[in-house]
Order: sequence, then structure tokens, then C-alpha cells
Amino acid sequence: MFANAMAAERAGEEERLERLAASLFHPTGVDGVYGRTGAYESVVEALTALITRHRPAGAEVFRFPPVMSRKHLERHGYLKSFPNLLGCVSCLCGSESEILGVVNRFEEGEPWTQSLEAADLVLAPAACYPVYPLVAARGPIPRGGQVFDVAAECFRREPSRDIDRFQTFRMREYVCIGSPEEIQAFRGAWIDRAQQLADDLGLPYRIDLASDPFFGRGGQILAISAIQQELKFELLIPVRSEERPTACMSFNYHREHFGHIWDLVTEDGTVAHTGCVAFGMDRLAVALFATHGTRTADWPAAVREILNL
Ligand code: AMP
Ligand code: ZN
Repeated sequence: MFANAMAAERAGEEERLERLAASLFHPTGVDGVYGRTGAYESVVEALTALITRHRPAGAEVFRFPPVMSRKHLERHGYLKSFPNLLGCVSCLCGSESEILGVVNRFEEGEPWTQSLEAADLVLAPAACYPVYPLVAARGPIPRGGQVFDVAAECFRREPSRDIDRFQTFRMREYVCIGSPEEIQAFRGAWIDRAQQLADDLGLPYRIDLASDPFFGRGGQILAISAIQQELKFELLIPVRSEERPTACMSFNYHREHFGHIWDLVTEDGTVAHTGCVAFGMDRLAVALFATHGTRTADWPAAVREILNL
């Protein structure tokens, strides 16, 4: 009886989420890749403006395209940690006659994708990766550290029908480069500020220690070590269920990982530490609709006011 009631409740929840997804997204034939409605997009824009209002003083703004240097991502060590999530741009690179040959064979029903060659581009898996080489090339980080405001459309190869998991999604980040103490202070302040933001938006949440989904069996050891070192916290919102809440923001301390790789140093000559706070813009927008309903006009007045909706 109890199991039946639980199953019925789960089915009801799934139906609610399916209805919500249908009201926010247009299908494209690929799981996790959607056209977005005007109402959804206006909430993403409102959230973007709200986060901009909280931009740390002196932060330098970078906006990055959805692709980045393959060489840079390889040097970042991404292939060791998340090879399964990476998308690489590949193109038909031959001469005109070679390319024509491929197209003609495709017209005759043969596959064309075997002729693709990897280009010097990958799809950006996070917004902050291009910052570290760019800033390292400018010379030492000034005393007191530096903060950057970055954003990009990101790709991760994790197809899913879940309303909170996309293959392509918007990520906004504040990135801090400096001494270990500066990074810890930056991250701590943002963990507090993020909770205030979630309160203002009327979103239920909890903050929890987390680890990245490192690839393979070796990845489990990396994940345990990351938890022990408290490298990642997340702000979790119950979008699909209380038991499996959705990570909508993350607060990351990379220690000297990127500093070592890119020779990022502070003015006193020591390796710079880095950290970032990442806002999953699409997850935050979905969380707002899941919490307050499909029509923004019906949302609580205080929430509409803070978003200028
Ligand atoms: P991470 O680098 O994994 O901490 O990701 C930063 C933020 O991006 C997360 O807190 C999520 O809000 C968001 N994010 C990560 N993966 C996805 C995904 N597959 N779909 C939508 N948002 C995501
Ligand atoms: Zn980051």
C-alpha cells in the first residue's frame, strides 16, 4: 500500500515536470538540447541582470564564445578528469574535390562522418577555462588578488530527459585569482551571498559539500580526496525531488592546479591559487519556474520585484 502511494506520487511528480518542460522548451529531437520560450528567456535575462548587480567591485568582464582552444583544454587536464563529457569540433578539412567526394557519397546514402577531422576547437565545458592562460600571459597577479566576471554557453555530453540536465547551457562565473587566503575569503563570502540570493528569490535550498563527477574508477579516488579537501560546495534546490536536489550554483577552490599549469604567479613570486563561483543560469531559471509556477505573473510579488519582471 505504502509502495503504491509512493509510486503514484512519483508518477504525479514526473507528469508535473513534463508539463513544466513542455511550457518552457521546444523539442529539437535531441535530449537535453532545446529551443527556449520567450517567457523562459526573460527569466534567464532577469537572473543575469540580478547577478550583475552583485558583481564584485573591480571585477574585469570577459564573455567567451561556446568554443575554446583544444590545446588549452588538453593542458588544463580535462581529458584526465572528464573525457566522457567533452565535445570536440570536427570538420571536413580536405581539398575542394575531397570534400565534394564526401558530400556526393553521402547523397548516395553512405555515411559522411568518417571523413571528419578534429579541429583545433572543443566545445567549452565551463566558462572559466579561458581565463587562466589569458591572465597568466599578462604577468603577475597584483597584491590583493584579481576577480573576473565570465560567461559562456557550455557543452557537456550528458544527454538526459531530466528537466535540470542539458547538454548545452549558460554558465556565469565570478573567478578569483590570488593567495590561498584571498580565494578562501572570496568563496566563503559567496557561499553566504548565494544563500541570500536564493532567499530573495523564494527558492528552497541547502548548501552541501560536493565533488565533481570524475571519470572512471580512478575518478572515485579523486572525488574522495576533493571532498576531504573541501574543494567544492554546491547550492542544491529540490527541483525534481527533495531526495535528489539539483546543483544550481557551485563554489570551487582549485588550489594551485591552474596556477601550476599556466605559471600564474602573484607579485611576491608564489604560485597563484584560484577559485570560482559558478551560476547555472538555466538550472536557476528552471528552479524558479518549478518553485513558483509556469506563469511569471503569478509569482510572489517580492520575487517579481527583485527580478524586475
Ligand atoms: P560545475 O562546474 O559542474 O560545478 O558546474 C557549474 C554549474 O553549472 C552547476 O552548479 C550547475 O548549475 C550548472 N550545470 C552543470 N552541468 C549542467 C547541466 N548538464 N545542465 C545544466 N546545468 C548544468
Ligand atoms: Zn570555474
